[in-house]
Amino acid sequence: MSLILLWRLQELDLAIAELEHEMENNPLRGEVESAAEQLKSLEEALAGTEQDLKERRKKLRRGELDLEAISAEHDALDRRLYSGEVKNIKELEQMEIKLRQVKQKRDELEEEILGMMEAIEEQERRAADLAEQQKEAAAELQRRRQRLDEELARLEGEMEKLQEQRRELAAQIEPQLLDRYDELSRRFQGRGLARVVNDICQGCSVFISSAQRGRLYDPRALVYCESCGRLLVRFSDEEAQAH
Ligand SMILES: [Zn+2]
Repeated sequence: MSLILLWRLQELDLAIAELEHEMENNPLRGEVESAAEQLKSLEEALAGTEQDLKERRKKLRRGELDLEAISAEHDALDRRLYSGEVKNIKELEQMEIKLRQVKQKRDELEEEILGMMEAIEEQERRAADLAEQQKEAAAELQRRRQRLDEELARLEGEMEKLQEQRRELAAQIEPQLLDRYDELSRRFQGRGLARVVNDICQGCSVFISSAQRGRLYDPRALVYCESCGRLLVRFSDEEAQAH
């Protein structure tokens, strides 16, 4: 009778170990991790874009100051050239050349500034887009964390039930037998008991000797497999479930 209980204890312990494994390696953990990584990479991309924008705006301000200076230079030259103050032909020619150069420089700078503004607008759109994606990723992470928490709470509930069943079951088994069970369980990674089916030890798949076979019918005898050392139990599936 105790051997059946011991077998059921082993089944329970295996179920508990499986449940522990399920909690530790729950696929929802991986989903939380991937959502967290996604959020982190978006945060980094956004921070990089914002830093880039800051530098571009600074550069634009410098360009605008340069443009103001060069425009002032251009206008002053232009006024002086057409003021009638300068009479010398040679000097006027030099001034015309200079004015053309300054005008060209001014036009180029204006062109450059327009390009900078467009690039800034483009980066601003990108930053807004990334901020939106980041918000969504944060919400997704939150959802996945909640799903994981709910699943773990459910598994935790199952675990409590199994532990309670184990306590009840263990209370019905002689302490010496429980000690023996613990010892065997450690030695055989939780499978210290093996059923005998068609005279074969299910622990190591070796035929059991005829001498042992006879002893298996004695419900009080502890019979160990001569091949692997597991404690042998012999009963039908129905018997195993009946208690
Ligand atoms: Zn065996």
